[in-house]
Amino acid sequence: MEAGRTNLFGYSRAQLENFVGELDGRPYRARQIMKWAYHQGVVDFAAMTDLSKSFRAALAERSGFWAPEVVTRLESRDGTIKWLVRVENGNCVETVLIPDRGRYTLCVSSQVGCMLDCSFCSTGKQGFNGNLSAADIVGQVWLADRELAASGQSVTNVVLMGMGEPLLNFDAVVTATRLMMDDLAFGISKRRVTVSTAGVVPGIYELAKVSDVSLAISLHAPNDELRDELVPINRKYPIAELLDACRHYLGGLGERRSLTVEYTLLKGVNDQMVHASELAQLLKGVKCKINLIPFNPFPASGYERPDARAVRAFQTHLMNSGYATMLRTTRGDDINAACGQLVGEVSDRTRRQERYLARVRAQEVA
Ligand code: SAH
Repeated sequence: MEAGRTNLFGYSRAQLENFVGELDGRPYRARQIMKWAYHQGVVDFAAMTDLSKSFRAALAERSGFWAPEVVTRLESRDGTIKWLVRVENGNCVETVLIPDRGRYTLCVSSQVGCMLDCSFCSTGKQGFNGNLSAADIVGQVWLADRELAASGQSVTNVVLMGMGEPLLNFDAVVTATRLMMDDLAFGISKRRVTVSTAGVVPGIYELAKVSDVSLAISLHAPNDELRDELVPINRKYPIAELLDACRHYLGGLGERRSLTVEYTLLKGVNDQMVHASELAQLLKGVKCKINLIPFNPFPASGYERPDARAVRAFQTHLMNSGYATMLRTTRGDDINAACGQLVGEVSDRTRRQERYLARVRAQEVA
């Protein structure tokens, strides 16, 4: 980032038109700039040869396209790639690209760490150090797209399932998802851009007013007593309110859209048949598909992954109750890139990281 200049990765098409219009009087020039940056991957104004020299100079004086800086890049034996990138506030977050039979799903971060501290998620243990800008979020997609462009591919799906709670960084997430779905930028179908929330209920109602992106919720428990323990924000917005918000959101989408319900299976905690039955009952009347995520371990988590038989039985029960139920296969765990393993480099402002590290050290000594 360059002091005083605007990072155009943070501008939706409308915002860029505004900016360009003020600079040049011809807002439609924004289209050309977007095609260069997002379709060609060209972000140096000097190379945008269908724009006049003076306009290019004016742009360069006031703005630029700056993606987050790649600090490290790790590639898993299954082809998953994880980047550690430095964002505008100086901290680092992780981005994960998951190739799967011609699909390229990118898992992007929306915050540095997370404020919510779900009991089984390692991101929460890092504490929190602020929101990403829209440009930081869009820049993650641009970087991955550049990597894929080399082999003639592009990002086909984006999930806001990296570090952070997207609905607590509302404006940046809305702007960034607009660009993901904009034909002049990444042109990804709205069915393939998914915002995942731990249950920020007011955020879901706000989102319904301004977006038709796909929605996923991190449910993880079929009743409030258990969910209060696993997903602490449930104490503020209990399950019934969360599901009401989801029904409202779905009501604003087309007939053929549905909600994704994420359910991380924790051995002996939420993986029993009684939980499966209760879950099937709870979701009656909610148009959804269920994603089961066997717990991905991290140091001193205090949880274990259920064995494959228990996972299968849970899935079968839900399928027999009529729910499309996918088992999310673990990807990139050899590079700690699986769900709930993203940690980045967060200079914590909550002291949660310090307490967590003390627990890890205590366990190593024991
Ligand atoms: N904060 C948002 C975005 C994160 S999505 C949300 O909660 O929805 C990442 C998903 O992985 C969430 O469903 C999260 O609960 C789940 N998860 C977190 N830690 C995990 C772990 N250790 N193993 C498996 N899934 C985990």
